[in-house]
Amino acid sequence: MLIQPNTNPILENKQVHKYHEKLVADSHVRFYRTTSLFGTQKPSDNILCYSTDGIKYTYNDLVENFSRKKPALVLDHSQLFEHEGIFYKEILDIPKRPITNEAIAIARTVLTGFEFGFKDFHIQHISTTYSLEMIEFLKKCANITCEVTPHHLLISNEEILNPNFKINPPLCDKKTIEILKDAVKTNKIDILATDHAPHPEKPADYRKAPYGTSNIEIAFSAFYTALNDVYLVTDKLCYAPRKRLGISYKFTSDNLVIVDLNQEFTVESKRFFSKGKNCAFDGMKLKGKIIGVKINGKWGYWNGEYLLD
Ligand SMILES: [Zn+2]
Repeated sequence: MLIQPNTNPILENKQVHKYHEKLVADSHVRFYRTTSLFGTQKPSDNILCYSTDGIKYTYNDLVENFSRKKPALVLDHSQLFEHEGIFYKEILDIPKRPITNEAIAIARTVLTGFEFGFKDFHIQHISTTYSLEMIEFLKKCANITCEVTPHHLLISNEEILNPNFKINPPLCDKKTIEILKDAVKTNKIDILATDHAPHPEKPADYRKAPYGTSNIEIAFSAFYTALNDVYLVTDKLCYAPRKRLGISYKFTSDNLVIVDLNQEFTVESKRFFSKGKNCAFDGMKLKGKIIGVKINGKWGYWNGEYLLD
């Protein structure tokens, strides 16, 4: 699990990192952290790289921080925050975000970083065809990978029903979903990542609701339903992120996930172990059910039951 800096307080200095280290000390899950590109903490040990996720940054913030920091891998949530719009399609009276916003922001981050010696970038949760094209172009000057989320492969902007569908970047149209799926299959998209964003119950008012969907417990099944290729999904969901982040790992029978690829189930977020029940997948039928999870030699989950404290 890789924690992004969109926490409160922001993961950006020694104290906050220390606090997070304590929070997960007894966890069965391995946690790694990013650190805000705009803070004082440098990547080291379990702090694997910089990230801009969840931070409303400006071009000036990018220039200031790239110019005074030692180059390292940067994970970028690419967005021009100068424009307030949130969805491509107009919903209520919320202004529309131009579809080119993300691609322009990708170019802005990568080219600015490149000028100051940063050459290693990972673009998070991409959602437009322009972004794919822009990343292909920028590969000429920098090492760039990118990822897509399960919701951007499965839920279109025509299916938005309530504030749990308020996600950043916004859900895309059906045509773009097919292009993103193809891009995973042709390796233009390197990594499958959740962008898991748990929240307490969101307010009913769309405008006041925070962004994000809770999805980590159904991520494998959602990706498998979208892509229908277990090798592709495990490669890009398990191997590729570790490789990209430089995490060495030996696969053993002490850590296993057992999946029934033929079993279908309906998502019920009220049954999530996560405190975040804000789920855009609620009620959706997914296939490829996780039956068991073994962590460090102990079964942590079996058929709907959590077995570890
Ligand atoms: Zn983000």
